[in-house]
This record gives sequence, structure tokens and C-alpha cells, in this order.
Amino acid sequence: MLKTRPPLLYGACVALLALVGATATAPVASAGPDLTRAAAARAASIPTPEQHFGFKMGTEGKLASYSDVLKYMKLIAERSDRVDYQTVGPTTMGNEYGTVIISAPKNLRRLDRLVEINQKLADPRGTTPEEARRLAAEGVPFYHLEATIHSSEVGNGQAINDIVHRLATEDSDFTRNVLNNSVVVLVPSQNPDGQQLIIDHFNRTAGTDYRRTYPDLYHKYTGHDDNRDWTMFTQVEARYRLELEKKYRPAIVHIMHQKGNSGSRIFVPPYGGITSENVPANMSASVSAIGQHAARAFAAAGKTGVGSLDYHIFWTLEQPVGYFPFTGAGVYLTEIASVTDYAYPQKSQDGRPLGPQQARMNLIEPYRSDTWTLADIVDYAKIATYAGMEYTASNGEKLLYDNLYAVPHEYLTKGVPSGTFAFVVDAEQRDTYATFEMLQRLEWTEVEIDRAKTAFVADGKRYDAGSYVIKMHQPRGNWAHQVLGTDRYPEVRDCGECPVLLPYAEATTSLPLQLGVDVAEVRTPFDAQLERVTSVQPPQVTMPPAPSAKGAYLVRPESYGTIQIVSALQDANIPTFRGGKGFSAKGVDYPAGTYIVPATPQARNVLATASAKVGLQVTAVDRTPKVAGVQLKPKTRVGLLRGVGNMPGGWDMWQFDQYGINYDVVSAQDFQRKSLNELYDTIVVSSGVSRDDIVEGLDPAQYDEAYSWAYGVGEKGWRMLQQFVRKGGTLLAIGDSVQTAQQLLDLPMKPALPNDDDEFVTGGSLLNQEFDPDNPVAWGMPESWPVWLYDTQAWELTDDSGEVVSNYPAEGEILASGYLRGAEHIRGTTNVASFDVGKGQVVTYGSEITFRTLPRAQYNLLYNAIYHGPAAEVDATAVQQLRPQFSPDGALLKR
Ligand SMILES: [Zn+2]
Repeated sequence: MLKTRPPLLYGACVALLALVGATATAPVASAGPDLTRAAAARAASIPTPEQHFGFKMGTEGKLASYSDVLKYMKLIAERSDRVDYQTVGPTTMGNEYGTVIISAPKNLRRLDRLVEINQKLADPRGTTPEEARRLAAEGVPFYHLEATIHSSEVGNGQAINDIVHRLATEDSDFTRNVLNNSVVVLVPSQNPDGQQLIIDHFNRTAGTDYRRTYPDLYHKYTGHDDNRDWTMFTQVEARYRLELEKKYRPAIVHIMHQKGNSGSRIFVPPYGGITSENVPANMSASVSAIGQHAARAFAAAGKTGVGSLDYHIFWTLEQPVGYFPFTGAGVYLTEIASVTDYAYPQKSQDGRPLGPQQARMNLIEPYRSDTWTLADIVDYAKIATYAGMEYTASNGEKLLYDNLYAVPHEYLTKGVPSGTFAFVVDAEQRDTYATFEMLQRLEWTEVEIDRAKTAFVADGKRYDAGSYVIKMHQPRGNWAHQVLGTDRYPEVRDCGECPVLLPYAEATTSLPLQLGVDVAEVRTPFDAQLERVTSVQPPQVTMPPAPSAKGAYLVRPESYGTIQIVSALQDANIPTFRGGKGFSAKGVDYPAGTYIVPATPQARNVLATASAKVGLQVTAVDRTPKVAGVQLKPKTRVGLLRGVGNMPGGWDMWQFDQYGINYDVVSAQDFQRKSLNELYDTIVVSSGVSRDDIVEGLDPAQYDEAYSWAYGVGEKGWRMLQQFVRKGGTLLAIGDSVQTAQQLLDLPMKPALPNDDDEFVTGGSLLNQEFDPDNPVAWGMPESWPVWLYDTQAWELTDDSGEVVSNYPAEGEILASGYLRGAEHIRGTTNVASFDVGKGQVVTYGSEITFRTLPRAQYNLLYNAIYHGPAAEVDATAVQQLRPQFSPDGALLKR
């Protein structure tokens, strides 16, 4: 609210007449007890969405853009004392992520106190149950309303304009109840960038022959996976959501989505399917109640096609709900059927009504019409939201106590259902950067971490001082258990012959296995002298004294944090060698792949900055080891063949940007050169890029110049890609792009896994893997560690011209965490393999080693290969002399 501005009185009468929302409450002409005369005048000056945007929300073919929606929200905030607008911060692409806070003026005036109450409730350590009862009676619940995260699901983002207008202007039993007894925290968009991209494209293509739907990722890096970022919190928008949870402690979170058009018209809870025992029972029950309250409202409004008992989303956190349920917030998911090209009616093909027509308990009244429109979406969104708000406002005291307080209190006092006492993170770790990244995620999600001041024994094992202990008796015990434990995904079917209910893509959320941290789950209580960790930082490292002129700096290759050191060396054009075998120096053993860097002041500066950032120790030796190896090519040029609209490619871009990799996205224009080798040393083909994506690409008749980078390059381009490798380029293919590489170069390999889910399926799991750490692609890897496998392939090499870099074990346990059906099919098969093709090299990664940037313990497999292919072999004497093989501009020196 902004009180200094004089009221602008346009359309005041119309505004009052346009108050009627989706429920049947009649507007009351007089101002409520909370409205002063001046405030009433300002409220009357608030234009309706139709006045503001020039069309009614839900009008066929018309979409309000995100920036216009924000303008409208800010305008209402200026004129209404029920509405505040706050900027949270810039998005990935620099748009504005904001929130709209809506409540009665008296609540907005005491917002600090209401937030303080929520904070006290959410902290069972400082609040007794009696005090919590009193606080719950004094406070009001916060209703976090996330209008959209999937940007192609445009209807909800239109409906909120009507919703906010109604709450800001109407005086009725409904609005009085909601405003007086709750605080609405509206996030107009959880992914503003995507809404800009989608709706701008939609508007730009109006009246043209081009497709109206946006072809590329609608979040720069994650696309539709923007909703699969709830364990690593890689994206700034995901961290904003986390910050809003911490700031306001919502008791109910309403997350609005749209779905396909073949099923019910809207899904409301109860949910169906499998749940994790880590998810608090109360949270599920409270949103089941809300969902049924909404179903009642739909019935009362004569709206049909309301479904429930669907979306089994509580096994892991990849799904819409994310982290919220673990805080005690009830997550109320609504999914509304979509229409054609975002904003045009869906008509049934055969004239029959849309959606299932048999009444069942999960769809009491089938939808009887053959048409479904954007206006229907807007209507259904409003009914579902008003019902959620009404339930929350009417049950505030219970929700505040049962959700916000009782859930963390239960874990603090009773621990977790599995009976686990604690997780112990040994002070001795292969990858200290991985440990840092894991503990940082725990810290972000308010998990209490303790560090041992002295050595202790747990489950018969001795741990040194400095080891970390995460006890389960803590407010976030359930969450810590979810992300630190290993999973055994249950085999559940809806009927005897039905397929196993699989998760969407993640049957496990184990951070330790994904990142490469040794963590022990300890059931028996133990004593240890502990201190609370107040701030998680990378380990502190100091540079060693500068070695003599004949010496060198050494960087070990085990940690994936090393990638950032290497890219800094590349960026500064510092000669960088790698030992091809293990060696000893000053009594310390260094493995194959150790980085050897000349002891120049410039190198020292770069190493000091980069190693401090990742907390990895650089060492120094006065005599450079005499070991044959390679020198990395200065400024190795990386191309990323990512595929338009292909999410794995987006994640790969994010990772490259984070790690400072010198890369460009491979474009159709690149194929107009004489040769791709002019541009790139290494081309990475993201998972999901097929031959068709390369050869056919986007159709210029359907997508204009803006997407020309993704046009097809034809058979000629396909042959150029072959030539790129044969002339010395390095090609790395990830996941199901291995098949593309196999087709491209006729690699001697064949698929090992059956196509049938009944025979083999993982649902997205971590499977044990054996590595050959002597192979340059696996330098620094342990002999075994799990890899991520979702729905791609394992391979058999058909002759011995290729080298096996890693394979699934021939004996013993294969599943490390998650689910595996048909272990016998994958036993002993090849995952990562390397091939010499002409003068070039190809490495194929059958499993998705970069899947959503989660399985970071495997990253070195990719980055080793990115730099190794273009590197020059160096004999032992030349390494010892650190004799350059390249000129500074990357050309090989003649010998
Ligand atoms: Zn969605």
C-alpha cells in the first residue's frame, strides 16, 4: 500500500459492479469496519482486470503478460490498504520476482507480530505446547499461493488478476473472513522468465503462420524441470521460494498447475499413490480436507469434472510439492486441464464430452461438455483458490498448531519413524568440496548440524574430531532423513497385472551418494562432544610456500571441485599438465591425473583464488615429478549441442556457466563454416539430442529467425559432425545421445537393456559402478561409486577397439539407492566407454552423468574427457621440465 498518492478515480462504479467472483456472495455496498472513507475511495479507484488489460481474464486468444500483471499488482498495492507488493529479487534472466501480500489492514499493520508468531510456532525448541496454543489463537495462518511455475500453464497466472482484484475491493462475508483471518502471500510467478518468454512469443506470433507455442526451454537452464530443484536448490528462483518459506512460515501452500486435456478438468487432493514415511501425516490430511472443501465448492457452483486421488508425488521431492511438506506446511496442489495453444478452446475430436465419463469416487461428476476453454481454466482456478483460502481462514488456529508447530515438534521429541538416531559424516572424506556442498544444502534447509570436538565411537566405528553429526531428533529430522538416507523404493501396483507405480524420474534423493560423500546411518544412540555448526563454509586452505623454480604446484584430481580450478587455469592461460600415472612426492602419493602447474607468480595467484573458492588444498614440490602425461590445450574450446527445448541441455549449460567452462552452444550457423574444428576442440552432446534434432531441427516455416540456431543442418551437417571427430575433434555423448553418437560414427557397441519396463526399469536410481581410474576419462574417480540411471541404456562393446571406462558390477549388489527391476540385464554391462575414431576421440556415457546436475560425484568423467581429447601427450622428461607443447594461442608447437 502506498498512502501518499491521491486516489485516481476512474471507473469507480464499474469497479464496484465487477466484484462478483466465482462464489455466489453478493457484494456489499457499504465499506466494512476496516475501511476508512479515504481507503474506500482509493479501493473504488482500482480498475478491474478488464479495465486494466483491455480484456476479461480468460478471453480466447488473449493473455496478459507477466510485466503487465506485475504492473497491475503494483497498482492495486498503491491503491488498496489490503495489499502490499514486495520485490524479492531478480530472476535468472533479470526479470522481477515479486510477492503480493494480502490481508486486512489491521493484519498488515501487525505483520511483524504475525510473522513473529509463525516463527515461534515453527521453532519447537523455544516454544512449549502451551505457549504454542496461545500463539496459534493469537496468530493467523499464511496462505502461500504460487500462481505458476510451469510457464506454458498460463491460465492460473491470468486468474490471479481476478483473485487479487476481488480481495482488494470486495466487501463480503467471504473477503472479510479471508482478510481478517489469514495472510495471503501470492507469488504471481515462480518462474517469471518463462512467462515473459511464452507470452511474448504468443503475442509476437499472432496473425502469422508461425506456431504460437514457444519451442525452447521456458526457464533459461531448467525449462519444465524448474519444478525439480528441491534438493540442490541450484536456481535462484528455487532459493527465493525457500527464503519465502523461512520468512513467512506458511501453514498452507497452494501450488497451481495445469495438466493435459484427457482426464478430469481439475485435480484436487487427496493425493493418490505411494508416500514416504518422512512426509508428515498431518500435512497430507490437512490438504485432503482442503481438496474436499474445494470439491464441495465446485459442486455448489455446478462445475463438474473434479478429480482426486491422483498424483503420487510424495515419495521424493522432485514433484510439485518440494521441500514445503517437511516444514509442516500443507501443500495444496491443483492441476487444471489445459486448452489448445495456451489460449484457444479444446474441442473433443469425436463430439463426445471431454474426459472420463464414468462417475467414480475419484471423479464424482464427470464433465459433460465437448469444449474446454481458457475461461473455464480461469473459473476453476478461482473456485479452487477461494475454497483453499476460505478453509485456511476458517481453520487458522488448528492449522497453525497442527501443521506449523506439531510437525517439527514431533520430530524434535520423537525422532524419525525409521528409528535412525543420527547420520555421521566422517571428517576424512575423499571429496571435501562435495561434503561442503552437501552440508550447505542442509544449512539452507535449516537442518541442525553438529561437529565433534573430540573423537567418538558410533556403531562400533571410531570417528575423528571434526566429524559431523546430524541427529534425527530435531525439527527438520524428517527432511534430513529424506536427503541423507538411502532409499528402497517400494514395489506397489494398483492391481495384480498393473505396472509398478514409478516415480516421475527420481526413486531416490540421496545427496551423499549423488555428491560423493561417505555418510553412515547410525541407529544406536551414542555420546559425543558436539558443537553446533553456525555457518557452513568451504574448508579453509592456504597456499603452500612458493616452490623453487624447478618445482611445481600440484592439485589432486579426486574432487569435482577441481573443475573450477582447472577452468580458472584455462581462463588465465596457465600451462597445465597432468600426470598419466600415480607418483609420490614428499612422501605423499598422488594418483593418476594429478594436475601439475608451473611455479609462476601468475599461476600462484590463480590457484590461490580458485582453490580458496572450493576449499581444495594446493600443494607444492621443489622437484617436478618425472611422470609421463599430457598438457591441456590452452583455452580448450567447448561446444554444447544441447537441443532446442531439451532440459538436459539446459542443465548442462547451467553447469558450464557455474564452472566457468569456455563454451558456446553449437548453432546451425556453425555448420556454415568449412569445418567445425575451426570452432571447437570438444563437442558435448547433451542427453536427449537425436539425429533428427540435428538433421531436421526446427522448421523455419514454423519458427522465425529468433530460433534459427536450432534449424536443421541436413545430411551435410551430419557429415560435418562425422568429419569433426575424424579430423581430431572430441565428441562426448551423454545418456540417450549415445545412440546418436553410435549412429553418427558406427561405434562398435550395442544396447544391452530390454526395452520393456516389465523386464528392466529403475525409475531414476543410483546403481553401483566400477571405474578404471587408470583410464584418463576416469582419473581421480574411486574404484567404485554409484551412478545415476533413469531410462537410458547400458551397452555391450562388440569388438575390442573401444575401452571400457566404467561398468556395472558383474557380481554383488547393483542397486545402491532407489529401485531396480531386472538387475540381471545390466550386470557386467558397459556404462562409459572411449573410442578412437580417425584422429579424434569419442566418449559415450550411457547413464545420465549430469542428470539435473545432481550426480556430481561423476562429473570428473565428463570434464576429464572435455580436456583430455584436445590435450597433447608429453613424455616424462618434458613434464619434469614443464616444457610447453602449445603456443599460447593453442597451436601445437613443432618439435
Ligand atoms: Zn505443471
